[in-house]
Amino acid sequence: MSKINRVPGYMQSKGNRNRGPIGDREIRYKCSMQNTILDVLRARPGWQEVSGPNTAGNQQQQGQKGDGDWDFYWCDREWLHANYDTMFLQEHQKILHFRNHYELTRKNLMVKNLKRLRKQTEREMGKKEAESFDFFPTTYELPSEYHIFVEEFKKNPGIIWIMKPAAKSQGRGIFLFRKLKDITDWKKGEYQPLTDPNREVPETYVVQRYIEDPYLIGGRKFDIRVYVLVVSYNPLKVWLYRSGFARFSNSRFSLDSIEDAYVHLTNVAVQKTAPDYDPDKGCKWATQQLRQYLTAKHSADAARKVFQGIDNIIIKSLQSVQKIIINDKHCFEMYGYDVLLDANLKPWLIEINASPSLTASGKDDYDLKYGVLNDVLNVLDLENRLTGKEKRVGGFDLIWDDGPVLADDGSMECSVNGTSTTANSFLGCHCERKKQLREIYTAAQALKKTAVS
Ligand code: ADP
Repeated sequence: MSKINRVPGYMQSKGNRNRGPIGDREIRYKCSMQNTILDVLRARPGWQEVSGPNTAGNQQQQGQKGDGDWDFYWCDREWLHANYDTMFLQEHQKILHFRNHYELTRKNLMVKNLKRLRKQTEREMGKKEAESFDFFPTTYELPSEYHIFVEEFKKNPGIIWIMKPAAKSQGRGIFLFRKLKDITDWKKGEYQPLTDPNREVPETYVVQRYIEDPYLIGGRKFDIRVYVLVVSYNPLKVWLYRSGFARFSNSRFSLDSIEDAYVHLTNVAVQKTAPDYDPDKGCKWATQQLRQYLTAKHSADAARKVFQGIDNIIIKSLQSVQKIIINDKHCFEMYGYDVLLDANLKPWLIEINASPSLTASGKDDYDLKYGVLNDVLNVLDLENRLTGKEKRVGGFDLIWDDGPVLADDGSMECSVNGTSTTANSFLGCHCERKKQLREIYTAAQALKKTAVS
């Protein structure tokens, strides 16, 4: 048997279950991060870290020998960009990120792709159907759409806009404004970071309508982080994690001080620099806590609508790039969606991250991130422990598998093509990870035994 054939779960079709259990050979992984993901990988039974320079030359050589030196690589985006085009991946290798993930994660491209699919939907299915895309605030790319923006600006005097660098994160370079004059200053270059040698000249920004009436809890604004795992774009296959968190701003919300980042930006990177920031609390609520709060304060139905709205955002946004993302069976993506609720409980898509922060801001945050990442590995299933038919693995629920996935227990009502049905989506619902996983593996083992005998 060749070396590669002994890797559990690889090189065999899902139908062929008569391979050995994990332990035939260790699974070799690489990891570019020094945070929670490394802890998860190191604690995983039967997985072995491989070191060595992460250079394209090294990878190419290994590839040419016909034997990659890793089976799983949690790489950073920069590494993928530098190496993907010259890399030869073995059948069994898995790597984080799709080649052109930026189509969804750069703020300007995300909106461009969403606008295109909305237009197409309106053309083919009518205005009503296209309204299901009204979940992103009016947005223009600058400087290219400056003139259209100015027209829109003049139509809505007095409203607040937010300027964001298209390719930055953690609240960097963001500012709010009411007057066109502030943009004139920006145009002159006042807001362009001069220290960044990689910046585009002029740097691309998006200008976006600011959501002036966010839903507040305790007078504070928050946004919701949602974890979504895409294991294939063609066909589209999407898993949604039950847990996540709401990130609160440290100061009470007010429109009087639009220059105050502690009031308006909910990024942890921003909030943790506030003088009264409490690192133990970390300004976070678990998504379950938020769902419970909304249920108690409004109704179960109102809370369900909020989370159905988030499901819609996830699916529509992924569909908007489905034909554009270079699909590759070796690639997967774990997205961090940022969603804001307005005072009417309508969810708005703020942005999608392909490298959501995996650095924990406290113990609960660490446990959550550890759980998500461990379950990412469980879904990817390099050990080949699953049957391939699961709708739930740990905290992840399969919500789209080339079409909507329906729940078995009928607990979540939704509408698919006008028919009332139940979606397999449980964001903010209770997450009994450990028990559920045990059940899945026991069932899978039993199935395999039956298949062999
Ligand atoms: P970054 O990539 O720098 O985090 P985001 O687009 O996520 O940029 O914006 C940072 C924060 O600013 C968000 O978490 C949210 O609190 C706030 N924000 C961004 N866009 C809007 C908007 N259109 N309306 C209201 N708040 C916004």
